[in-house]
Amino acid sequence: MRCRIHRGCHEIGGNCVEVESHGKRIVLDIGLPLKDEGEVSVPDIGGLTSKDDSLLGVLISHPHPDHYGLLEEITEPVPIYMGEASRRIIDVSAFFTRLPTLGNLEPHVLSDQQTITLGPFSITPYRIDHSAYDSYCLLVEADSKRLFYSGDIRGHGRNAHLFDDLIRNPPRDIDDFICEGTQIGRDPDFAFPTEHSVADAMAEVFNETDGMCLVWCSSQNIDRLVSVWDACQRSRRQLILDMYTAEIIRAARDDALPKPGKEGVTVYLPFSQKQKIKREKAFHISNPYYPHRIYPDALAEAASGSVMVFRPSMLRDLQRAKCLNSASLISSVWSGYVHRNRKELDEMAALGIQRKQIHTSGHATVDELRQFVEAVPARRVFPIHLEDRDGFAELSDRVEIRNDHEWWEVQ
Ligand SMILES: [Zn+2]
Repeated sequence: MRCRIHRGCHEIGGNCVEVESHGKRIVLDIGLPLKDEGEVSVPDIGGLTSKDDSLLGVLISHPHPDHYGLLEEITEPVPIYMGEASRRIIDVSAFFTRLPTLGNLEPHVLSDQQTITLGPFSITPYRIDHSAYDSYCLLVEADSKRLFYSGDIRGHGRNAHLFDDLIRNPPRDIDDFICEGTQIGRDPDFAFPTEHSVADAMAEVFNETDGMCLVWCSSQNIDRLVSVWDACQRSRRQLILDMYTAEIIRAARDDALPKPGKEGVTVYLPFSQKQKIKREKAFHISNPYYPHRIYPDALAEAASGSVMVFRPSMLRDLQRAKCLNSASLISSVWSGYVHRNRKELDEMAALGIQRKQIHTSGHATVDELRQFVEAVPARRVFPIHLEDRDGFAELSDRVEIRNDHEWWEVQ
C-alpha cells in the first residue's frame, strides 16, 4: 500500500489523501482550500473527472467544506461514502447557504466501527469528537499494512468521551498515521477550555442581560447549539433558532438536541431565508415549523426572555423588529471570523450592544494532539491540515514530513 497527500501538507483546509494498493485506489476527503484563491481545481486523481475504473471510492471524514467541498466537481460515477447525518447536513447547508452541494451524488453510508470493503481495502470509521457533527477517523487496511487518518479531531467537546475512548483503546499495530495539526503554531483560541465552560460563561451573560441575548455561532456546530440551549435553560430564557439552524438540528436526527416543539424552543425566519424559500417554492421546509414560529412583531416583547441564534446578516431584520434595546451579543466563533465581520460588529457596538467572545476551538489543543500521537501505536506519523510542520515534529520523534503530491510506501 502506498499513499500521498494531495493537499494539506502546508495548509489548513483542502484535505485530500489518495491511497493505492494492487493498482486500485481510494480517496480520503476531497476538501475545498480555506484560502481564498479564486477557481480551485479537483486534485489530479484519475477517476474523479476522467474515466479510470481503478478508483474504487471517495470517503468523507466529516461534513466541513474543507473536507468534502470538491465533491460537486466530480463528473465520474465513483462511489462516495460518508456518515448518514453528514449527508443530510450538507444538503441543508447547500440549500440555505453558498456552501458546496453534493451535486448529483448519492452517498453510501459510513457508520461507527462498521468495516466496509472496497477491492483490496478494508476501511473502518471511528466516530470522534470535533466541531462538526458525525465526524470520523478512518482506518485503512490493505496488503497487511494499516494506515490511520485522523480527519479533524478534538478532546474537549461534548463528545470528548469518544476521544478518551480512542486514546484508551486505539486501533492496534498501525503502520502510518496521518494526523491533523491545526492548532500547532496558531494563536490559541482557548480562553474557554471546554464546551461546558462555554455554556457556563454564556449563562452568566444571559443572566446579566436585560434585553435580547444574541449568540453568533455556526449553525453546523451542534455542540455549540447544545451549549447555548443549556445556558438558556439555566437562565430561564427561550431559545429562538433561525430556520436554517432548525433544519440542521432536524438533519442530525438526535432527540437530545433543542428541536423546535420542545418546550422553550421556537423558530424565526429571517428575511433572507424567507426569500430563499419563496424563490425555490420550498414550503415543505417552512410548513412543519408553523406551530413553533415566532414572528418579527413578537420579538420586542419576547426580547428580555429570549436568546437568539444570530449572524451579522440578520442585524437589519432585528433593527426593523425593534428588539435590540439593552441587548447583548456573544460571538462564539473563531476569532478570524470576528475580524472579517468588524464592520457589522462596530455598528452593533455603536447601538450600545455589548459583545463578549465566548468560544472554544473545534480542533485538538497541542496537548490533546500530543496525547493522541502518543496513544496511537503508529510507527510513523505524518502531519496534515496545518501550517506549522516543524512545530508538529516536536510532538514526537516518530513524525515524518512529506510534501503535497509526494507518494510514500506505507511500512
Ligand atoms: Zn473540520
